[in-house]
Amino acid sequence: MAGDARRFQKGTGVYTCAACGKSTRSTGRCDNENVGLCAKCYDEGGLENEHSDSGGNHELDLEGKRGPHPDCPTCKEEVKV
Ligand SMILES: [Zn+2]
Ligand SMILES: [Zn+2]
Repeated sequence: MAGDARRFQKGTGVYTCAACGKSTRSTGRCDNENVGLCAKCYDEGGLENEHSDSGGNHELDLEGKRGPHPDCPTCKEEVKV
């Protein structure tokens, strides 16, 4: 595997996520890449922002029923308690 690390450099489409520290490949989505996060951390960070913006009413329409956002890590935490 010698030499593999050299491929993880700027300009190759691979970068290190600022949140989880994993090497992550360019997705072409750009928005998460601009802030140096992998797509997963970017989505979770976005949901956390949405959550605080909602003031605790972070709900989503689920087939006609409103409920806690199923993908939001903060909502999941609150459901557990
Ligand atoms: Zn990440
Ligand atoms: Zn939430």
